[in-house]
Amino acid sequence: MSTVVAIDGPAGAGKSTVAKKLAARLNLAYINTGSLYRALALSAVQSGLDLQKPLPQDFLARQKLEYRGETLFLNGRDPGSALRSAECAANASLISKQPAVREFLLPVQRDAARTQWIVMEGRDIGTVIFPDAQVKFFVTASLEERARRRLAQQGEVAAGADLESVIADIRRRDEQDSKRDTAPLRPADDAVMVDTTGLTIEQVVELLIDRCHRSGVPGGDAPKTNGER
Ligand code: C5P
Repeated sequence: MSTVVAIDGPAGAGKSTVAKKLAARLNLAYINTGSLYRALALSAVQSGLDLQKPLPQDFLARQKLEYRGETLFLNGRDPGSALRSAECAANASLISKQPAVREFLLPVQRDAARTQWIVMEGRDIGTVIFPDAQVKFFVTASLEERARRRLAQQGEVAAGADLESVIADIRRRDEQDSKRDTAPLRPADDAVMVDTTGLTIEQVVELLIDRCHRSGVPGGDAPKTNGER
């Protein structure tokens, strides 16, 4: 078993918020893998590359992506808020379907769990990166609720965006992520499905913590219940 709590799910499902809180409560490291795809897309744009074409191998070979704690460094620098824009998210989704990109980012993700327990969130953590994760969650919410949450997150949507445009954006990204040939977004067969529609963040975190305790993930406070849900 890998020392990993895997959290996958579509855009805007609240994965990051929940994963961060879960990691803090359990005293585990938190790793956001979307940042890897975003950082690579940012670097490719800065290098003037066409994201519709396979990124050249020599470009990939020059990229240094490393987590220092929870912060991802791209070629020695923290890219900061540049990763959070709607444009960067769309570009990340575009390059994430390239098999060479996914292969390039695989060891960076696996390395993160070599010496510690981690909560890792993404799209293929439970299916491809850590198929033997200690526990896997697939976190979703209705499309409308996800769009509303996204809209409420400063800096994550384009200027002038409204609910309709954010719904369209998220739908496009989900489709692209679920229909790609390599590592498509889908729940692992043994993932715990968590629909967060209508739940508060705290309710979701409690639910996950309870399941983590019952699955033998160390850390944090004692289990609050031990009954099956
Ligand atoms: O999670 P986030 O929205 O930051 O991810 C941005 C994009 O990166 C996703 O839409 C998806 O295309 C890609 N991604 C991925 N696999 C992951 C994490 C992110 O394909 N494990």
